[in-house]
Amino acid sequence: MKRLDILGIHVDKVTKEEALNTFKKLIASDGCQMIITPNSEIVMSATKDHHLRTIINDADMVIPDGIGLVYASRIIGQPLRERVTGIDFLESALNYLNQIKGSIFLLGSKPGVANKAAEKMKEKYPDLLISGTYHGYFGEGDEEAVIQMINDARPDFLCVALGSPKQEKMVKKYQEQLKAKAAIGIGGSLDVWAGELKRAPKFYQDYGLEWLYRLIQQPSRYKRMAALPAFILKVFFRRNKK
Ligand code: UDP
Repeated sequence: MKRLDILGIHVDKVTKEEALNTFKKLIASDGCQMIITPNSEIVMSATKDHHLRTIINDADMVIPDGIGLVYASRIIGQPLRERVTGIDFLESALNYLNQIKGSIFLLGSKPGVANKAAEKMKEKYPDLLISGTYHGYFGEGDEEAVIQMINDARPDFLCVALGSPKQEKMVKKYQEQLKAKAAIGIGGSLDVWAGELKRAPKFYQDYGLEWLYRLIQQPSRYKRMAALPAFILKVFFRRNKK
């Protein structure tokens, strides 16, 4: 896979199909492979957070999520061939796991949400095995017990929805111990699956305006969303400095 360097953060230039093919290989290999789907906000944090940057740069697959990274790739002159959102990648991974009767563990979101998301996934993908779910509001002292619970369930795919960078840092911390074949941070995707949060309608998706739709739904996120224009400007000025 070709990697693109955006502000020192490496992302894979993958199409939807390539991301799925890589996923198939990752869950067939030994150890717990790590998949990350950074958006511009995460890339901005990673420019300041050395640990997060290392986690992303060492990951087994880094799928550029969000329109900000597509714009950045164009500014750099190495355009991403396709926008692959984290939620779309999750959908194709679930579809594949359904075909092979694979299993998932859903960790994160408010109590009840992961369960509800699991029910919805099961309705859509009846052959998918849900090996376990657990909410995301546990303390650091409970982490070992949570990892044990996941390992007892031995899922093929561990989906962690704790928000970024918490989810990436937790997976990295326990990667060696984890008995899942692959793990991914999925942010708010369980909320969307459970119906707690609506995904942007197609119009917003097609025009790269998912951020606007999310802002309308969750106006309190406006400060976090300022990362998008700040990110684009940073990429632009960095390019002109070179
Ligand atoms: N979350 C969690 N535990 C925490 C903090 C957040 O389980 O300690 C969950 C939260 O309920 C939400 C998810 O993490 O379902 C993603 O949060 P956010 O929307 O901030 O993430 P993003 O999609 O922006 O990465």
